[in-house]
Amino acid sequence: MSHNLEGKGRDLLSKLSRTIRSGAETLMQETKELTKVGKLKVEVLSLENERAKKFEEIGRLAHTLYKEGGTIEQLHEHFEAIDEIEAKIDAKNKEIEKAPAEEVQKAESVSTPQDEAVSRMYCTQCGALASEDDKFCSKCGNQLR
Ligand SMILES: [Zn+2]
Repeated sequence: MSHNLEGKGRDLLSKLSRTIRSGAETLMQETKELTKVGKLKVEVLSLENERAKKFEEIGRLAHTLYKEGGTIEQLHEHFEAIDEIEAKIDAKNKEIEKAPAEEVQKAESVSTPQDEAVSRMYCTQCGALASEDDKFCSKCGNQLR
């Protein structure tokens, strides 16, 4: 991983996060009363949102490269940006794991803001976001129902 590419990825990431920041800030404000674990989960949520957008972007770029002829190297900075996001998600999930069990339970009993809470749940094993329709966690494979 070269520092140059890392820097580029970070630039892109900061641009990207600016575009979603307003939404994330609203979410943070509404969840002020949450526990530390709850806040971490909201942060993980917004990072996963960022990652999903990044994947979409890569999909579009890959298609453009396919059509116009390019090299996969052109996507590297995007892959690295995703690595960075995943490192942040891992770090926050580890913090959540370290938290006392009763705090985690408290956080799980607090629902996310109404309009966001449609079909949102978390894996009890790794804390990854899962949809209510999911039978298994997409991250660790834990059985959810
Ligand atoms: Zn899981």
